[in-house]
Amino acid sequence: MVSWWLDSYIMYYYAKKNGYQPIPIRVDLWQPYREKELEAIKQFDFYKDIIQISVSDFVSKIPTNVDKQNQIIPWRNLLLWILWANFGEEVWIGALHSEWHWKERDKSFKFFEDTTNLLTYIFNIVRERTEIKTPFFHLTKTGVVKRAINNGISIDDLKKTSTCYDNEYHNCWECSTCFKRRMAMVNNGLEEEYQNNPRESNYAKEMIAEIKSGNKNWRLTEERIWEIKNALATKWIKTNEDIS
Ligand SMILES: [Zn+2]
Repeated sequence: MVSWWLDSYIMYYYAKKNGYQPIPIRVDLWQPYREKELEAIKQFDFYKDIIQISVSDFVSKIPTNVDKQNQIIPWRNLLLWILWANFGEEVWIGALHSEWHWKERDKSFKFFEDTTNLLTYIFNIVRERTEIKTPFFHLTKTGVVKRAINNGISIDDLKKTSTCYDNEYHNCWECSTCFKRRMAMVNNGLEEEYQNNPRESNYAKEMIAEIKSGNKNWRLTEERIWEIKNALATKWIKTNEDIS
């Protein structure tokens, strides 16, 4: 199940290298950045193998119940997994370590377990078990990029992937995912072009405030705090808000 963002590309590569025969599936969810995402995907040889499904008509007509600023669609993974389970007995998603928090319940252990049970139950007529797998759930984003480099993914290919909510720029700088991408890249010694320094984005300010407050929202684990601090303190442009 690929968006050809950083994580899903690395996960697809990882599956192939480990002898699986992954079926890459991409769903058009009417996301504002979908055209840009598609252009990024077309740069890879795997493009021709991707099964493309569109639910954009459906999504475009539902009332707004989505946190647009954070691009959170509460039911997204449930819908996608039901679609994907038609293609195979294992459905892989590139959820990362401690991505789950109060906003994103569809990345929690409870959700993975409950969905596996439900899919196993309803797909029982075609197979014994249908399982949700999260092969990167023990890794931070920094760890995923490190694994990619150690397993022979070229830096050029990593940079071709698209990880940004903006509908125009490859790397805008302001969105939360640009911050996370740059953090993972610089922690592995890689730099990329951004419209501006994600260090100056509102998301960066939010993260810094949260760390300073003692992580009151429980959104950040020790590993994530380390990732952020390491990226900010050692590699990015420092500002007066430095937290190192
Ligand atoms: Zn962005």
